[in-house]
Amino acid sequence: MIKPGDVISYLEMCRQEGVNLQRGMNFRLHGRFTVILMSVRRGAPYVDRIEGNGRVLIYEGHDVPRTKSMPDPKRGDQPMANPSGSPTQNGLFQQAAIKYKRNPGPPELVKVYEKIYSGIWVYNGLFKLVDAWQEVCNARKVFKFKLEMVGDIEQVETKEKEIDHSRLIPASVKLEVWKRDKGRCVECGSRDNLHFDHVIPYSKGGSSLVAENIQLLCARHNLAKRDRIE
Ligand SMILES: [Zn+2]
Repeated sequence: MIKPGDVISYLEMCRQEGVNLQRGMNFRLHGRFTVILMSVRRGAPYVDRIEGNGRVLIYEGHDVPRTKSMPDPKRGDQPMANPSGSPTQNGLFQQAAIKYKRNPGPPELVKVYEKIYSGIWVYNGLFKLVDAWQEVCNARKVFKFKLEMVGDIEQVETKEKEIDHSRLIPASVKLEVWKRDKGRCVECGSRDNLHFDHVIPYSKGGSSLVAENIQLLCARHNLAKRDRIE
């Protein structure tokens, strides 16, 4: 079972979701979870941000595909519909958010992965899609989607009370920690099954926002540490 903060390869991520993930926005893969891929490359094409004490993600929608008539997708409005009239991923996400706001039914559940280096991805956790809007940015309309962290899938499936312990670690902090710890467990040097661990847990007042409180641990040492704390 994958946990927020787990580091996985691209192939493992695709295996988790059962498809070859290519696009940033993937509405209802196999009719089940919706998946979002974030990227933090310098000059990353989309501007995403973290709010609400690390439990809210504001994700930017996607541009029109690059074509001859639109050589620079950053200059056009982000589309709600394809030329055929069918909704784009922006449109699908927006419809789901509006439906949730109008009828208090089950929200759209979204799994969020973030690429920190080529081939190195981090699972950011499971979120619910709660709002969507358009705003003007650099003289064009872009979509914004509001996602709230909901813990992990086990909790959702068993309707277990949400444990308020997960917090998003900003990409800049993940990158700093990855470089400092050289992509290895700080206890044993393993490069496998790594996890971004809070040195002092969030529930005990530890911060997600500073690299000093985040470290890389392998699954074995992460488990050993959790046993010590609980
Ligand atoms: Zn280790």
